[in-house]
Amino acid sequence: RAKRRGRGFAEVYDATLAAEVAARLQLAAQLRGALQRHELRVVFQPLVALADGAPIGCEALLRWDHPTQGELAPGAFLRIAEDDGLIVPIGAWVLEESCRQLAQWRADGHDLWVSVNVSARQLGHPDFIAVVERALRQTGVPPHAICLEVTETTVLRRPEVARQVLDALRRLGVRVALDDFGLGYSSLTHLKALPVDVVKVDRSFVADLCASTQDRAVVEAVLTLARRMGLTVIAEGVETAGQDELLREMGCPVVQGYLYGRPVPPGEVALPPAAAPPAQAIASSRP
Ligand code: C2E
Ligand code: MG
Ligand code: MG
Ligand code: MG
Repeated sequence: RAKRRGRGFAEVYDATLAAEVAARLQLAAQLRGALQRHELRVVFQPLVALADGAPIGCEALLRWDHPTQGELAPGAFLRIAEDDGLIVPIGAWVLEESCRQLAQWRADGHDLWVSVNVSARQLGHPDFIAVVERALRQTGVPPHAICLEVTETTVLRRPEVARQVLDALRRLGVRVALDDFGLGYSSLTHLKALPVDVVKVDRSFVADLCASTQDRAVVEAVLTLARRMGLTVIAEGVETAGQDELLREMGCPVVQGYLYGRPVPPGEVALPPAAAPPAQAIASSRP
């Protein structure tokens, strides 16, 4: 009987696996045309100065309005996009779209910057720097108002290529953030060796900040090191007032998380107040 049950399990397992493979293939096929069908969009999550709660920038995050499954977060399709190279054109589009949006916000007088995620496949592509240059040129966004987020894993995959690309970005004046910091096994080494401006402490260290003295020690160490190296620190995934309070006590300069705002469409983003319109505009609007 055990044998029969065992075989039954194997059959069910095979069927499940086959279904998963089929679903994955179908998703890949659907993703191939998603950009042209305008099913992709960019949402923005505020980055907030902890001292006064003021929004100073936001992170661009990709969403896919799937025809039958509804809104999908990157976790559902990014791996597929990365594996078959679709992330290259999609990533270029995210960057252009983010720059376009930022140009509009800045033209309306809002002084902020936008952070855009870059995957390993994009960073390793020979056209990457040209794509960044074109997005800046076409939208007129100043390079310092764009921050590109890369993870350690991305950098580790081809360290010498990554180094060259990050150096080229720095020459362009674009800022670079090390995303999901602390997850890699040699985070601190990279911090010293790479041309990085911002460190984003991974959400997993913030989650248990109030209960775990170990996580607190990690965040404190990152903050101390970053201060010495002249880097900005952003703590990700701040959800509770307790985490917020602790991070403030520790002197963390910038936070991001549901406590301050979820990723939302561009029209719903909390922006820094617009600067006063230029004097000429005031003069010409007088009766
Ligand atoms: P990430 O770059 O670390 O982005 C932060 C993620 O944490 C986002 O998930 C965001 O919605 C989520 N998050 C922010 N605050 C909180 C919070 O308080 N609590 C919780 N539980 N989560 C929070 P999302 O949008 O699902 O993106 C997941 C990952 O997908 C990103 O992680 C990034 O690695 C990648 N990604 C997103 N957009 C793009 C893109 O345009 N290009 C590339 N290459 N990767 C992207
Ligand atoms: Mg990111
Ligand atoms: Mg992150
Ligand atoms: Mg993260």
